[in-house]
Amino acid sequence: MRYADVAVDITAKALDRTFQYLIPEHLEKEVEEGVIIQAPFGNGNRTITGYVMSISETPRVDPDKIKPIIAVVTRLSDEEKRLTALAVWIRDRYGSSLASALRTVLPARKKTAVRQKRIVCLALDRNRAEQEAEEMKRLHQQARLRLMEALLQEERLPYEVCTGKLHVTGTVIRTMVQKGYIRIERTRQYRNPVPDQAFAHQEVQLNEQQRAAADRILSGIRQRPDCRFLIQGVTGSGKTEVYIEVIGQIVAQGKQAIVLIPEIALTYQTLMRFYHRFGGRVSVIHSRMSAGEKQDQFDRARQGDLDVMIGPRSALFTPFPNLGIIVIDEEHEESYQSEQSPRYHARETAYRRGALEGACVVLGSATPSLEASFAARSGEIGLIRLDRRAGLSALPATRIIDLRSEVPSSDGMILSGALQAEMKDTLQKGEQVMLFLNRRGYSGSVICSSCGHSLRCPHCDVSLTLHRGGNLVCHYCGHTERMPSACPECGSQYLRTFRFGTEQVETQVRQSFPSARVLRLDRDTVTGKDAELKILSAFAGHEADILIGTQMIVKGHDFPDVTLMGILMADLSLNVPNYSANERTFQLLTQAAGRAGRSDRPGRVLIQTYKPEHFAIRCAAAQDYDAFYEREMRFRQDAGYPPAGSLTAVHMSCADKDHLTLAGNYVRQFLEKVIGDAPVSLLGPADETVARIADVWRQVLYMKGSSGALLRYARGWLEKYIEINEGFSNIEITYETSWAGEKAEAAARPGE
Ligand code: ADP
Ligand code: ZN
Ligand code: ZN
Repeated sequence: MRYADVAVDITAKALDRTFQYLIPEHLEKEVEEGVIIQAPFGNGNRTITGYVMSISETPRVDPDKIKPIIAVVTRLSDEEKRLTALAVWIRDRYGSSLASALRTVLPARKKTAVRQKRIVCLALDRNRAEQEAEEMKRLHQQARLRLMEALLQEERLPYEVCTGKLHVTGTVIRTMVQKGYIRIERTRQYRNPVPDQAFAHQEVQLNEQQRAAADRILSGIRQRPDCRFLIQGVTGSGKTEVYIEVIGQIVAQGKQAIVLIPEIALTYQTLMRFYHRFGGRVSVIHSRMSAGEKQDQFDRARQGDLDVMIGPRSALFTPFPNLGIIVIDEEHEESYQSEQSPRYHARETAYRRGALEGACVVLGSATPSLEASFAARSGEIGLIRLDRRAGLSALPATRIIDLRSEVPSSDGMILSGALQAEMKDTLQKGEQVMLFLNRRGYSGSVICSSCGHSLRCPHCDVSLTLHRGGNLVCHYCGHTERMPSACPECGSQYLRTFRFGTEQVETQVRQSFPSARVLRLDRDTVTGKDAELKILSAFAGHEADILIGTQMIVKGHDFPDVTLMGILMADLSLNVPNYSANERTFQLLTQAAGRAGRSDRPGRVLIQTYKPEHFAIRCAAAQDYDAFYEREMRFRQDAGYPPAGSLTAVHMSCADKDHLTLAGNYVRQFLEKVIGDAPVSLLGPADETVARIADVWRQVLYMKGSSGALLRYARGWLEKYIEINEGFSNIEITYETSWAGEKAEAAARPGE
């Protein structure tokens, strides 16, 4: 007897283990590792699907109780089998359920409508067809005649042309098929996101630095296909051209490439550069595509119709037959960290996939994550620097404006005197201005200046944001209420907004520069599918003078006429309660500053802040990554934060607050016992930054230590403890680990 260990495609945490099924004789040949099967499940024996993880000859329970597999649904392709191995790794590393890890790497093959193109073809030779047409004329069969005559002129016609222009009904077509006059051919038609047009092949001559970078990666690959590199290149240094060059060589060897780009930076300009080089063999996926559209792209990849896939985090799981390289552009971006279970990180997961499939991983950024930099500086991955801009432009000149020395105004300081003067100057020269604000909405939180009460969402425990028209909106759950006229706590009339959003900036700019043409880009103005693109291309075409926006305007866009970038309220992100707040601030400011002066005219950047002496702001102003890294790394070392130490976050959530608190305390007590005298410290449990989302309470407990292995050991015991304790059944627990260095065992290549 042979038995299959089956991972059941069910979310329930309690069922997250494999179940053994008997392989019936008639399926003996078909059931193998990696196939999807149907089997009876539970007391009611309902039919469920599952993945065969392994096959064995020993029953784990009473053989009489082992149910047989019903049927084999699909066979996984070789690509998908490798992805299954990746899912197992994701489960082990990030502590998700196997089912959700599998769903992440092998998106459910929903039965989405497969679009077929139908062609009506003449099934007779011309003589017979002409005879039949005569007969139809005699019998006054007008519709049949129309179709026959059309087919005599053009032997293959799209189905829609027959039913549309020729007014032939489906019934008539079916009858003619039955009579053997015509036949219908079907071809599968993929929804292709790449516009079907000829692309001019644009050659960019790589400069010396770029050439050297590409050569180093290519020779690295020749020595070891799964090598890893970090390109630390200032904004505008031409990293994308280096990727394109390397990918071109890899594709020439018959391998494929995945290029990860943060969704927010997935710009038209970047895509066009890839299309120009690789034409229709490039595809893209993004979050606005339907499941069917995404699946089409994965199918095309599996069938060898594509060489390059571009997309955000999930593109990492493109099932290519012979993957050669994974590029992660803007590697430091937070969007590479999944927020849902499994909380995988694209960088680590790319390392793993590269190791499993013998593919090279190239990271690129102007402001690499501390993790990637640490790995590069300790020699675990190759470090390549591009320190000059590729085009003509020099890096912009940057000035810090101390808002504390400005006269305070009622609406908060939006545009300082210095910024207004620079804007005026820029507009007079006919050049463009960008204003970057790290917020959205008309204004920020509403606070009572009598009692200090702030208006918060009743479900999520975050500040509500005041929108134009007087509505207060929760940006987590969407809860909306009218702005009260008096403070609900003390009844005073002094409810005030202390922060501001892009709408308020727009109002202020229009007042100060009434003749300037102004555009605004944030999540509120981008509603339709192409709204973002429209605004950006209008601005790129110089149809406006000033662009105001949030993060969406600072990533990856190239606007040659922009010579002034104003950064409003630079220190907002410093106040986020997270150990990486400095890093986030530095990255954001550096990226924003990099937008100015991308052509031959020199750019200027003004950074408005209440904390002009902060090193993250000073280093960003100086575009000095290395200085920032040194300083920030010292802080991480002193405090034991990643990448100097390892940190595991145990995220717990539950609708019952008291139950959550109790469970959190049990977790802590249990971990204290497991850890004993080992060098691991426990922080919390405490409320998450957002303590409640959609009525579910959230707490987090951190384990911090120099050894990742110790943390994993502790987590392993915790998982077992939780599994056998009924009390945890209604608590959702996920783990997120940042490891000391990249050489954590899990990211290591097999055999290392
Ligand atoms: P990064 O990705 O490093 O920010 P890009 O690859 O977007 O830089 O390049 C910045 C700009 O420089 C783009 O407009 C690009 O077309 C141009 N560029 C890149 N490489 C070259 C080159 N070798 N010669 C001329 N222009 C280049
Ligand atoms: Zn009050
Ligand atoms: Zn809410």
